Amino acid sequence: MPFRTLGLDAKILQAVAEAGYTEPTPIQSAAIPPILAGHDLIGIAQTGTGKTAAFTLPILTKLALLPANSRRSTKLLVLAPTRELAVQIEENVCAYARHLPLTVATVFGGVGEQPQIRALHAGTDIIIACPGRLLDLMGRRCADFSQLKFLVLDEADRMLDMGFLPDIRRIGRQLPKQRQTLLFSATLSKEIESLTHEFQRAPKLIQIGRRSNPAETVTQLVYEVPKHLRTSLLLHLLQDPRMNMVLVFSRLKHGADRIARQLEQKGIRCATLHSNRSQNQRLRALHDFKEGAVRVLVATDIAARGIDVDGISHVVNYDFPMHPEDYVHRIGRTGRAHAVGDAISFVTPEDHAELRALERFIGRGIVRKKAEGFNYSQAAPLFNPAEEHRPFSHDQRRQPPRGPGVPQPRHSHGGQPRPEQSGRRRWRR
Ligand code: AMP
Repeated sequence: MPFRTLGLDAKILQAVAEAGYTEPTPIQSAAIPPILAGHDLIGIAQTGTGKTAAFTLPILTKLALLPANSRRSTKLLVLAPTRELAVQIEENVCAYARHLPLTVATVFGGVGEQPQIRALHAGTDIIIACPGRLLDLMGRRCADFSQLKFLVLDEADRMLDMGFLPDIRRIGRQLPKQRQTLLFSATLSKEIESLTHEFQRAPKLIQIGRRSNPAETVTQLVYEVPKHLRTSLLLHLLQDPRMNMVLVFSRLKHGADRIARQLEQKGIRCATLHSNRSQNQRLRALHDFKEGAVRVLVATDIAARGIDVDGISHVVNYDFPMHPEDYVHRIGRTGRAHAVGDAISFVTPEDHAELRALERFIGRGIVRKKAEGFNYSQAAPLFNPAEEHRPFSHDQRRQPPRGPGVPQPRHSHGGQPRPEQSGRRRWRR
């Protein structure tokens, strides 16, 4: 079914064509008509399915229909769990709205609030915000949402996981009741259902694929490996030039630093993404990864939320994920929107029970593989454990080129996302 049959505005169709999309993804085909018809909607979909366009395109179409003089106020508020996701949504919205006279701004903590306050005062048409900073600014009467028409709660399950429910409730109480509310989540839990009762009216439910179904284009493999050989195995696998854009997941922040440092020692250019890094460092890491200035990005789960980078060749679960849902999110970073990617999980003897639980969760077994030519019987770690706790110094790295297109710090997130956990695994079986 082509995009033009969905009832979208002609200028938006033009932007969609310029983005290179030839046909809508399943969530777009399912969600766009009911949103255009004015229904509230619950979209259960993985990241990577095209859900941002699924809500943005019909809302932009409706905004384009509003009389010009009523545009000087915020009409759409999108709440998202992390600054990375907020920036990602902003980039998407700007691309789809490029032929429309609409203004867009993001609001999140950690950097200067003045530009955000100015954007709110100016009645920016579309605000994409993390709950903490937004609530702070609303409390200081910096925002006027009296003309708001649309509210989107994106990755609602993750916002609840991160403890944002009280903030979201407080924000919701200050918004007009007459509005269209869309909620997107990877899972439909009891908590999400109660959130929809509070925020939505007779919502339509759209569920794309089984809720625990990882993106179908991703080839999943497990490598069983002793814990101390994981970095050696990663280096061995990285000898394959097809692993040209690799996202490595570490459970802990200092672990991410250590992996990056060890890879750099072997001449592999890396960046890290975790919540100890400043907003500017995080944006630069993403930029360097996107531009190919670094081959490997080592990230923790929370920081990696919302990473939308085309062409990731491989996701490597260096540490086995804490929750099965995290696995689905992690591997959704590759194989995005019809591309084919590989998801590799390192499984140590201690991870076997979790692996079985994961296989039950996703409803299928994952192929075990042995790395050809890798010496599994080597005894000692390749790296000196004495330096395991030294933080990764980014000054050791060759600096990537500076210049136009390198993102500048924008805003960051006022509500503190839950720091990456260092505690025990919490598997929901
Ligand atoms: P999302 O699930 O919104 O994070 O989108 C995942 C990726 O799919 C993004 O890189 C989008 O640019 C891309 N995308 C969204 N819609 C389409 C489409 N209809 N055709 C091809 N790519 C798409």
